[in-house]
Amino acid sequence: MAQTKKALLVDITRCIGCRACETACKEKNGLPMDDGAASGEPRSNRGERELSATTYNVVQERSGRFVRNFCRHCNEPTCASVCPVGAFTKLEAGPVVYDEDKCMGCRYCMMACPFHIPRYEWNRVTPRVRKCTFCADRVEQGKPTACSEACPVGATTFGDRDVLIAEAQARIRENPNGYVNHVYGVEEAGGTSMLFLSDVPFEQLGMRVDLPREPLPLLTFRVLSKIPDIVVLGGVMLGGIWWITHRREEVAKAEGAERQAASAGVRKPGGPA
Ligand code: SF4
Ligand code: SF4
Ligand code: SF4
Repeated sequence: MAQTKKALLVDITRCIGCRACETACKEKNGLPMDDGAASGEPRSNRGERELSATTYNVVQERSGRFVRNFCRHCNEPTCASVCPVGAFTKLEAGPVVYDEDKCMGCRYCMMACPFHIPRYEWNRVTPRVRKCTFCADRVEQGKPTACSEACPVGATTFGDRDVLIAEAQARIRENPNGYVNHVYGVEEAGGTSMLFLSDVPFEQLGMRVDLPREPLPLLTFRVLSKIPDIVVLGGVMLGGIWWITHRREEVAKAEGAERQAASAGVRKPGGPA
């Protein structure tokens, strides 16, 4: 029987910035509590942190709100479409998972991701790409993600994607002045498993509002199909060139900062969300 597609609904109006989701994520994934995550240190003593190879989920302050940033587990993931060796797989239940044994370290996924999510382990001899896993093992067992289970105020909830979309729309209907009339993630980049509600326009939260509604891999294909020679020559290997070209400069800058931060043992912002 086909598995129901799961999702997380992050209601930014409910988030109190406690970062219990960060701690739970670190514990679940066996990640070090570095960069101040869940240290209990007052937020004002820390600069804004970013995603890193050891932080798959961050709660950032934007326009007076707390906003989680983590992999959106796109319905049609661009990371998977550009990976020449098939290291990324979209599972039926929703998670986009990564197989480090297949990865050859080209980092096309990092360049292609419209949300600038995947990070690279610069400090390892055999580096891996790192990002939120959507707690795929738990989801496969029918359990909620660690971050949603840890949220004390129900700002992050786990469930069937259809049900969560209906729930989000109902919240908007019942409190039209309390929400922007949009559920972010229903259509962005062809739809994602991570859905967001907010009372502040999403662009003011640093979230991309310029993304097309159709899946980016489809767009990639359409652009390429208008250039017959490239299609013939490139085939699957060149599947991500449109996005890669678009993102290369931006990612190079972000990677430079990350590499510097990794060698200095300090995390620095990795670039735009
Ligand atoms: S947000 Fe980026 S890394 Fe996550 S599934 Fe989408 S394209 Fe892949
Ligand atoms: S879904 Fe799992 S891996 Fe992703 S942020 Fe939540 S706890 Fe971390
Ligand atoms: S655990 Fe819930 S309330 Fe706390 S920061 Fe995360 S989403 Fe916000």
